[in-house]
Amino acid sequence: MNDQALVLNAICKTYNAGKPNEVRVLRDVSVTLDRGEVVALVAPSGAGKSTLLHIAGLLDTPDTGDVLVDGTNMTRLGDDARTLARRGQIGFIYQFHHLLPEFSALENIVLPQLANGVGASEARDRARMLLDRVGVGKRADHRPAALSGGEQQRVAFCRALANAPGLLLADEPTGNLDPTTSDQVFGALMDLVRETGLSALIATHNMDLAKRMDRMLRLEEGRVVG
Ligand code: ADP
Repeated sequence: MNDQALVLNAICKTYNAGKPNEVRVLRDVSVTLDRGEVVALVAPSGAGKSTLLHIAGLLDTPDTGDVLVDGTNMTRLGDDARTLARRGQIGFIYQFHHLLPEFSALENIVLPQLANGVGASEARDRARMLLDRVGVGKRADHRPAALSGGEQQRVAFCRALANAPGLLLADEPTGNLDPTTSDQVFGALMDLVRETGLSALIATHNMDLAKRMDRMLRLEEGRVVG
């Protein structure tokens, strides 16, 4: 394993380049996440944090600059290689859980493992272990609609960690929850991240949550300012 879980080197991204509605979203952004480090990405709405997370998560490509995950330069990989890297090396959590509604909590965590070549029985064991760790083991057979918002998000955390990635990217992971639930669910996420030694970049508006991470990066008008 490389000492640096993620390196973003001089990333630039502009939407609608050269047109009247051009938006320069990221202007020379460089970020390094050491192994095991948990970093808060603090940014006002529209500052470019989703764009940055999507580029780090290989869901979008920068115009210029490089993305290295666990020491490998992913910037110019083809679609198949990017998909493989996303599936095995990177976990992504959104503000909304995006669980598959027709499958149980357990199945939602089993499916990404099957896609990654894990056997069914091993995948079920790991899914149960993850659900137990975040306190929703008793809800394993429920579909997402039968779960509370906090429980849905805990299941989404387990799904992101299903294939034991080294890097977790999260975009306002508790932004959709009331303050008390957000605090508890964030605590469960942090416990899981610390226990597994994950490196994480977690976008949030919430300064109380940001202070519980190792350090803070601020993104303003497309630049990292500290
Ligand atoms: P944040 O997550 O910080 O709210 P985003 O990364 O979603 O910010 O967006 C940053 C800016 O880029 C916004 O002004 C947004 O309107 C613009 N933007 C995002 N995606 C696109 C796109 N696909 N086409 C054009 N503009 C976009």
